Amino acid sequence: MLLIASSCTTAKKAKEAEQAKKTAQANGKSKTNGKKNGVKPYDKVITEDAKTDTGLFDVHEIDGKYFYEIPDSLFDREMLMVTRISKTASGLGYGGSKQNTQMLRWQKKDKKIALRVVSYEVYAADSLPVHEAVVNSNFEPVLYTFPIKAFSKDSTKTVVEVTDLFEKDVKALGLSAGARKRYKANRLEANKSFIETINSYPMNIEARHVKTYASSEAPSNQSTGTISIEINNSMVLLPKEPMQRRYFDERVGWFARGQVDYGQDVQRSKEVSYLDRWRLEVRDEDMEKFKRGELVVPKKQIVYYIDRATPEKWRKYIKQGVEDWQVAFEEAGFKDAIIAKDPPSPEEDPEWSPEDVRYSVVRYLASTVRNASGPHVSDPRSGEILESDINWYHNVMSLLRGWFFVQTAAINPDAQRAEFDDEVMGRLIRFVSAHEVGHTLGLPHNMGSSVAYPVEKLRDAEFTQKYGTAPSIMDYAR
Ligand SMILES: [Zn+2]
Repeated sequence: MLLIASSCTTAKKAKEAEQAKKTAQANGKSKTNGKKNGVKPYDKVITEDAKTDTGLFDVHEIDGKYFYEIPDSLFDREMLMVTRISKTASGLGYGGSKQNTQMLRWQKKDKKIALRVVSYEVYAADSLPVHEAVVNSNFEPVLYTFPIKAFSKDSTKTVVEVTDLFEKDVKALGLSAGARKRYKANRLEANKSFIETINSYPMNIEARHVKTYASSEAPSNQSTGTISIEINNSMVLLPKEPMQRRYFDERVGWFARGQVDYGQDVQRSKEVSYLDRWRLEVRDEDMEKFKRGELVVPKKQIVYYIDRATPEKWRKYIKQGVEDWQVAFEEAGFKDAIIAKDPPSPEEDPEWSPEDVRYSVVRYLASTVRNASGPHVSDPRSGEILESDINWYHNVMSLLRGWFFVQTAAINPDAQRAEFDDEVMGRLIRFVSAHEVGHTLGLPHNMGSSVAYPVEKLRDAEFTQKYGTAPSIMDYAR
């Protein structure tokens, strides 16, 4: 508690304190009653009781209150905020479903810190005169402001309290507008909403908080008249220099994003679309080799870690599905562009976490959901894929069992039993793994591939043994 930290010796001060106390009571919350501007010495705010997690910003927790210590170098930098539901009651969709993605920046304004929303939907290169007009018509909305609480001893960092940002109903960081409407969830129940954890990593901060909304149409547990969800806000620092874009061509199916560009040399504003893709670059010392047509290992490989929770016997098949993509990158001149790895053990690296944005992970989820999904997070300015965590639900195996049985059991002894051999199931797992990884590389479904082979070829054993039943792994092939 920061309430009335200074001792009051004069009557005036006592009166002021009394007034502040009243105001605080009226607001139903504690308020800083420091000097005029509220800025206090560092160790009066970040006390000895603080639990500190160092990272992008240092995060301090004191008695349920959370503080960010923001380095000057990170003010005005562009950051991406991804809001997902991490846990939910039944009927509210899968854990992991995205609610909102926004670009933000932290700004220092006099004695305040502002968190602003950055829009990249309209754009003009900053070298062009029209850039100013675009900036003026895209005034960045303020999401939240924070009074400065303290400065670090060397005054290069600023401390603000962020408890309210996550405990109050900040709409951009909570349940999506669509879901609020659907469940008639219009009021936050403050006494049933709280911060679970805030963890800081070198490139990102992960905040988890439980939000309870009064709801007249809750999809489950209707007697409570509320819905509770756990939200995960992932704030990721974007690269200073955005990657070069690759523009979308409608002849090639790819996940793309759009933007209106006013700086193009055409007599109208132009909508441009560019691809979501990984940043694969040639190392300087390999450039000559690359130009000669020799395969080179990229500057930064795409690495997928296989969740520690994955049953031992399936791991190698999931890994094979990841590395099956190596041949595709070889066509582009790279070898070992994508690899699968076991994560370090807690003894080897106690800091390693699947939530750390530096690591892409195939998450193994103990859930009856019969599915797997391959989402990714990308830089809205360039389409650079920053990270991807594939969700692998345990019961995707029942789905595979059903498919394989229906499609092949009439003639396939392997499929004519209740439990498949591990080797058979392993191959099916490898198929799904490669398919999901394909999504995270930027490929959408290619259901058109189902009609690529003529029917008589599908009835030709020699043909299907060589080419399978569909030419694309991005097809469901059923
Ligand atoms: Zn798919």
